[in-house]
Amino acid sequence: MKKILALACAATIGVTSFTACDFNLFKKNEGTAKNIILLIGDGMGENHIQNALTYFELTEPRFMADRQGSIATKSKNNAVTDSAAAGTALATGQKVNNGEIAYHNGKNIQTIAELAKKAGKKVGIVTTDTLDGATPSAFSAHAKDRDDSDDIVSCQLATGFDLFIGEMDDGFYNNYEAAFESKGYSFASSPEEMVSYASSDKLIATLPNVRSNYREDTKYDYQLKDIVAFATEFLDNENGYFLMVESAHIDKYSHNNEIVNALCEVRSFFDTMDYLYDTVSEDTAIILTADHETGRLSLAKSKAEVDNYLYNSSGHTGVDVPIFMKNVPYTLTGTVQNTEVFEICKKLFGLT
Ligand SMILES: [Zn+2]
Repeated sequence: MKKILALACAATIGVTSFTACDFNLFKKNEGTAKNIILLIGDGMGENHIQNALTYFELTEPRFMADRQGSIATKSKNNAVTDSAAAGTALATGQKVNNGEIAYHNGKNIQTIAELAKKAGKKVGIVTTDTLDGATPSAFSAHAKDRDDSDDIVSCQLATGFDLFIGEMDDGFYNNYEAAFESKGYSFASSPEEMVSYASSDKLIATLPNVRSNYREDTKYDYQLKDIVAFATEFLDNENGYFLMVESAHIDKYSHNNEIVNALCEVRSFFDTMDYLYDTVSEDTAIILTADHETGRLSLAKSKAEVDNYLYNSSGHTGVDVPIFMKNVPYTLTGTVQNTEVFEICKKLFGLT
């Protein structure tokens, strides 16, 4: 089954790889954004954000003034989504069953990242998780099951995307170093190596742990903000780009009910948003949301109240998540489905 899926994937990409004719499929001039940066806080509910403000005694970062209602996150087959189905909804505009990666009922579903690539944009996938994690996979692969890692990498190899940055973890991607290089990618295994490949045509980097520097136990030199800064410069080009950024460990620490570590990751996300608000031009749309909430987190009224006991669950929940949009000429009010994010991205790029 694995091989069949992998081949199907390669075939899909092969047939649709862009040609001169493909440009006629898209009415590019109707779009309002040259670039889109879609940021996903895995597991980040409203109370994660509010508790981070309380714990670190911060005033609201600028992005919070660009709030646009809420996102409902249920999947096709469950009131409580996993990251595969939620990522797929954001990436493709279609609800699928938990576990499915841009795939349902025997069919691959095209992602906004693939559509952007076909329209001549550069595409980057950036995560603090491994690149075969559910969220980056939902934008860059198709698989019946989120655990089909070999299928996922086969798809990623066929995308032609310009930049992949993820966590090294057990070095799984090292098995594919030659395969990526044969497709024209430079392969980096450290931040220094990644930076040395800044002028490469295509690049995949798997990095040692990227965690928040606000933690007191361990210090990490390289922050999410730094990776995003590298990515936006790497992808910048006259035709524009689509960049997906996932902060993965808000979810992982929330599963463990480790509130301070989770809130440190949220604060690093604030820094990333500040960096983008300082640097991007008006033709770059910034959308920040979450794939789902994790932990049914209660709201702390003071810094002293921030405690692991604020968690009421160690799993994902069906709680709606916030969405923030900058340089987007559409307004979302009330609660909309997560599939709407795909529709907005499509409209911003003028894709039909
Ligand atoms: Zn999770």
